[in-house]
Parts: sequence; structure tokens; C-alpha cells
Amino acid sequence: MDAAGRRGDAAVAGEGIVMARTFKHLETKAVHAGVPSPRPGGAVIMPIFQSAMFEFTGEGSYHDLKYLRLNNTPTQTALHGKLAALESAEAAVATSSGMAAISTTLLTVLAPGDHLLAQDCLYGGTHDLLTTELKHLGIAVDFIDADDPSSWTRLLRANTRAIYVETISNPLMRVPDLEGIVTFATSHGLVSLIDNTFATPVNFRPLERGFDLVLHSCTKYLNGHSDIVAGAVVGSKAWIERITHRLNHLGGSLDPHACFLLDRGLKTLVLRVRHQCAGALAISRGLEAHPRVEKVNYPGLPSHPQHARARSLLEGVSGMLSFELRGGAAAADAFMRRTTLPIVAPSLGGAETLLTRPAVTSHAGMAPADRLRTGITDGLIRMSVGLEACDEILDDLFQALDAGRDA
Ligand code: PLP
Repeated sequence: MDAAGRRGDAAVAGEGIVMARTFKHLETKAVHAGVPSPRPGGAVIMPIFQSAMFEFTGEGSYHDLKYLRLNNTPTQTALHGKLAALESAEAAVATSSGMAAISTTLLTVLAPGDHLLAQDCLYGGTHDLLTTELKHLGIAVDFIDADDPSSWTRLLRANTRAIYVETISNPLMRVPDLEGIVTFATSHGLVSLIDNTFATPVNFRPLERGFDLVLHSCTKYLNGHSDIVAGAVVGSKAWIERITHRLNHLGGSLDPHACFLLDRGLKTLVLRVRHQCAGALAISRGLEAHPRVEKVNYPGLPSHPQHARARSLLEGVSGMLSFELRGGAAAADAFMRRTTLPIVAPSLGGAETLLTRPAVTSHAGMAPADRLRTGITDGLIRMSVGLEACDEILDDLFQALDAGRDA
């Protein structure tokens, strides 16, 4: 990224309105970035422009016509400015889901005949997309152990175009060799893509470390309230323009009301994520010390294989953790039934603590053999730590574990 790429806060927000103010700290960007100046109607809160189309003013190209699907209306543009600022980027585009962000980006970066290197333990939906849809389109994928750079070169082909990882993998909480990925991508001319959903820009800003494109499921932490599905792609102006043009054709734009909710959620992102990270660390420590718990996956724990890397690269870690109980899937289901505070539900990043068993939810689409090979056992429980008091969550987890001991 060049200096301009890191500027981050400047964006054109609606016709004739230029927002050029920059902010220093993430907390301030979360509140103020993207808001047009002057504020429309003087409103303190960016209004929702719930209009599908806008008057024609002689725009020269199809992509410049003001229309919701073309991702250029005032509510969308204000949100794009905030997303870009939070990821220290030149530009961003919001999408109708995290999968819309991922699929549209991959279809922009890759063409039939191309080859992609991807981390071997990704979110199940992404893994499915790579192994089914991309394959049908004639795009080949090889999976890499993202912790072992020495194994990557032999998978390179003349047609390899890009490399894809998650900052913290879902659900095993592995932290790839992120610096190694950037070096490898740069030296082989690959586009580096990273799904930053689990870390959020509070803990890691990939563009500052040399990645080309950042993807988000904004359904999770960025919105933070479990009430919308949304996504985002963040990167250089040139990349985001290409991806937006592809998105304009594929149709995955975000509705203004969802843009408004996401923008509102972003204002508290930093506060929420810091609370959730502190809670996840305390809960991980508590679970690890419990005799009924076999294993805890949390990069903030010294027992985690990439603990040193997580400490050096990530500011906090994540509000996510996963763990296994003695007794496998049956013990996991019984434990989840005995908890009273967490809600048993997939997804993550909201105010309510959630528990789920990835083998039957987020990773159900993966072949059982592939799941096991990557370490996702049937008994693995994934936890999204919410905004409740951490002591109260831990008390509830302990009562559910201790009740199981007598069962
Ligand atoms: N990326 C990660 C890491 C996820 O966990 C998910 C969903 O759980 C997605 C992407 C897809 O996001 P969405 O459900 O918003 O399409």
C-alpha cells in the first residue's frame, strides 16, 4: 500500500458533497468517518436515503447512475467511507452478505483457467464456494497449511493468481503466518486476500501489513447486533472500483436501512470488541483449567500453537473461542442444553453469547473426512462471547460443566 492507500478517511459522500476530514484514532473514525460535510439537513445522525433511484444529472457511465444496485447512493457512500477508514484503506464497498463480498471479489480477481491457493481451514461457506462454484467455473483451488510457508511453493502453478486466508480461522482459531503470506504473495505476484471477520480492524488491519484486499462478514462484529446480514470488501481505490463494477452486475448491494444499521453498529465497534476480547480470554483461561474440558482453542492462551504470533501481530485477539469436552459430541450437546445464559445458535459477533457445534452448523457442508483432517471434531463447541458480564457467563458455563459430572 502506498501512502495514499493508507489515508483512509477521504471519500466522496453523495453528489456534490465531499467528506475530506481525517481522524487519528479508531474510536473517532468509528463515530465520525464517512459522514458527509456539510451534514445533510444538519442531521447529527446520517439520514437514511430510502430511495432506489435518483434524478439523472448527466452521468457519463452506467456505473455512475445513482441507483441502489450500483452502490453509489448517499447512505451507501457514507458507510463506505467509514468502512474504508476503519481498515486504513482508500476505498470500501458494502455488500448484501459476507458471502456476496467473498464471491464477488473472487469472481473479480479470478477468471476461468486461474488457480487459487487457500488456507485449509476456512469458514465452511467459503470452503464450499471454493470447492463447488469455483470448480464449476473452471477455477482450480489448492489448499495450503497456512502455518507452513515451506509447503506453499510446490503448489504454485504458472496460472496461480491469488492466495486466500482468514486472520483467525473459523472455528479452530488458528493464526496463519500472515507476514509470510504477504511476502509470498509479493514475491510471486499474487493478489493477497484476507477474511478479517474474526479479528475485526480493532485487532488487526491487514492493509497496514501489506495485504491487497480485506473481506468481512459485517453480519458479525462490524454490525454487532445480530439483526442484519451484510458484507464488505476493503482495499485500494482501483481494486474496489473493479469489484464494485462486478457487484453492480451480480446484484449483491446492501439496502439503505441495513447500511444505516451497520453504520450505527460500527460506532460502538471498538468498545464492544475490546469487552468481548477480554471476556474471551478470561473464559478461555477458566475453561482450560476445568477438568471436564479436553482442549481450548484461543490464540490468547500460551497453550495455543500460534500464541507468540498472535501476541506480536494482533492488538487484542478475538471474542471467539472453541473448545472440546471429554465425551465428544454427546457431552457437547448435553453441556449446551444445560447452559442457561448463552443461546445455542450459529453466527457470532453480537451482544448475546452464542454456542454452536460447527460440525452440524457452520461446517456441516464440509465432508466429514475433510472436517476431521483439519481438526474439526464432532464434539467441538464454538463460542461467541457477548456483551454480558464475563463472570456471569463463566458461572453459567461452570454450573453446566459441573452438573454434567454427576450425570
Ligand atoms: N466469513 C466468516 C469468517 C464467517 O464466519 C462467515 C459466516 O459465518 C462468513 C464469512 C459469511 O458471512 P455471511 O453469513 O454474512 O454471508
